[in-house]
Amino acid sequence: MPALKWGLIGASDIAATRVIDAIRSSGGRIEGVVSGSAGRAEEFAAAHGLPCATTDLDTFLGWDIDAVYVSSTNDQHFEQACRALRAGKHVLCEKPLALTAEEAETMVNLADDLGLVLAANHHLPGSPLHAKVRELVADGAIGTVLSAKVAHAVLLPRRLRGWRLGQSKPGSGVILDITCHDASVLNPLLGNPVAVTAVAVQQAEWNAGGQADAAMTVIRYEQNGKPPVLAQTHDSFTVGYAETSLEVHGTEGTINVIDAMTQDTKGQVLLTTRNGTRDVDVDCSDDLYVIALRAFTAAVDGTGTPTADGRDGLLALKVALAAEKSATTGRTVRINK
Ligand code: NDP
Repeated sequence: MPALKWGLIGASDIAATRVIDAIRSSGGRIEGVVSGSAGRAEEFAAAHGLPCATTDLDTFLGWDIDAVYVSSTNDQHFEQACRALRAGKHVLCEKPLALTAEEAETMVNLADDLGLVLAANHHLPGSPLHAKVRELVADGAIGTVLSAKVAHAVLLPRRLRGWRLGQSKPGSGVILDITCHDASVLNPLLGNPVAVTAVAVQQAEWNAGGQADAAMTVIRYEQNGKPPVLAQTHDSFTVGYAETSLEVHGTEGTINVIDAMTQDTKGQVLLTTRNGTRDVDVDCSDDLYVIALRAFTAAVDGTGTPTADGRDGLLALKVALAAEKSATTGRTVRINK
């Protein structure tokens, strides 16, 4: 297949630090960037060796590109992704796909109707660590799954303490930022998320934006013929000295994943059963974003599927929105499939 020609919507940190390299490593070529600021667009294009820069989305969509990577702020994803799809481009959209489930559903349906690939750039479901956990669970290594726990508490780097903390920006806050990543891992592992209860707080003295920077969430999962599963997540921008992890507990054993939720290619899977604890062999040599970009490219090519397709992105968003609503109302929120 000839190199996929990409355009970038958003002169963002994640494009600069992860995705540009991943696109190139997956064989893609990047034609240019569209940004809200001419200066930022030109600076970004020069810094990353992109031939074109513009502030006009129509001009951008007129370029000779096959696929678009949307990594603007969350409030812009819906409109930009829909315009790209209508212009006939495949879309890899950052999480959360949109700010409401209705918007995300519209994106998914639009891509389906137009026969285009829409994927959410959740980097974790494609991780070999999580693939191994799903494999162990499917093979019955821990018996019937009962519960899971995600620790995803990190210290938000200074350079990212802008729109995520509020500043009247819709789509800010820790839940849309991190809890939706947790859901992207838990949903394919545990079945249907049906109800969510969450508590969210503001902890950091440097957080003047007014949005929650720490949250704990409990999700009830159901699967036909199996007992309900409880999942618990701890998501935070305020914790500087903790490892991320995933625990999955079953009737016959426990899986422990160390460094389960990082952006980096590392981690360890431990399986504990009545026979003791063993280190499960997992090849963590591939970059997580390269894995996602290769899968997206294969989906465009018709030879594979995205690591998180539009519907996966939609379901992850539904869990995060339910957690936000629960944290605001103090009530358990049910999720409609
Ligand atoms: P950034 O703040 O770096 O970029 C978001 C937007 O902010 C850019 O599109 C850009 O707008 C604008 N911007 C960037 N730098 C400046 C600046 N110096 N002054 C003013 N505006 C600026 O955000 P992130 O890269 O952290 O996040 C972008 C998206 O990616 C989000 O949707 C986020 O949820 C997602 N994300 C996903 C991750 C993953 O692992 N999948 C990890 C991190 C983020 P413009 O387009 O106008 O240039």
